[in-house]
Amino acid sequence: MTQPSLDTADIRRRNLSAVLGHVIEQGAASRSGIADATALSRGAVTSLVVDLTAAGLLREREAVAAAKGRPRVLLEPAADDLCLIAALLDADRATVVASTLGGVELLRVQRRHGRPMGDPDAIAAVLAATIDEVAAAVPRRITDLAIVVWAPVAGTPPVVLADTDLQWGEVDLIALTRAGSEAVRSFEAHGGSVELIADSEVAALAEHASAGHPDGMLYLKADSGVGGAIVLGARTPRVIGAALGHQPIIPDGELCECGQHGCLVTVAGPDVLLAATGLTDLATTEGLDAALAEFTTRVRAGDARAVAAWTPACAEVARAVQISATAFWPETIVLGGFYAGLAADVEAVLRSIQPHIAQARALPVPRVVGSVLGADAALLGAQRAARARVIADPLH
Ligand SMILES: [Zn+2]
Repeated sequence: MTQPSLDTADIRRRNLSAVLGHVIEQGAASRSGIADATALSRGAVTSLVVDLTAAGLLREREAVAAAKGRPRVLLEPAADDLCLIAALLDADRATVVASTLGGVELLRVQRRHGRPMGDPDAIAAVLAATIDEVAAAVPRRITDLAIVVWAPVAGTPPVVLADTDLQWGEVDLIALTRAGSEAVRSFEAHGGSVELIADSEVAALAEHASAGHPDGMLYLKADSGVGGAIVLGARTPRVIGAALGHQPIIPDGELCECGQHGCLVTVAGPDVLLAATGLTDLATTEGLDAALAEFTTRVRAGDARAVAAWTPACAEVARAVQISATAFWPETIVLGGFYAGLAADVEAVLRSIQPHIAQARALPVPRVVGSVLGADAALLGAQRAARARVIADPLH
């Protein structure tokens, strides 16, 4: 017997992906329905379903009576047996969510890590314990495990490059989490590979779906810093990570932590706005989220000090957006974090500074919308990305 060629294996993987993707995205379907939707032959679908069923990804559902009284067998995701785990590590907490392949949340556990500065081991231990708590409470096989961080990620295997919220330099977070987590070790022992992802990239994916799959989206968010991503394509979006908070928009401006001068974050980031509004102490006592929510409330209420801080910052946010948008002309600009509640201000400035180039190219000024997903965007996006990974290579 000869080994199947790589091409044959690739085609089979693509066909497995098409069948599984159809059932997950469209819901339970018959073999002939899948064949019609995927343009595969009925025989091919039957063979592919055998593999997907054996792998525990699909199962048959009880026969139902069709119009002519002939029983039909439907295939559905084997949702009882599998789960995806997404873990988010932010400036204050570890949040771990288990969900089904279809995106239904099964369990969410959140623990504060107490923000021990410069001590990744202590924080990884909290993350590991939270993952193990979820894995123990959800007795399903983990098909995908992703850790999302509020920091840039790079390398093979991926590592956190630097996390300014936690005073980390380069940290191999996967290795530290593995050391403390039985669930991670078991997942890897069964052939799994833990993903490590920057939050803005997966959050952008969730925002893109929430915004109705625009063909081209710029995502800019502000929480503990300012970050974002660029999303290209409507139905099969590609996310490009981008250091949007470090666009050097002020010539000879203040020195930024990144080493450049005049980055957007130095004039429109949370620290500078909270300080200018006298809310730094509130951030210390009640947390950053609460202080930024208070800042937004005060701006919208017309509080003089908050408005005086926000007005020049808003102009710089609009200008940074204008510069990025001119590079690829997105249909939609989504503002996340505390910018979400102030998106109308940014849009007003953008419309006042951008119309000429739009007219010249006969293009509309991109619409600016505030995120409606809030803090959940990264976890929702991580679930979407995990589902896409499972569908792309079902038998991995
Ligand atoms: Zn910078």
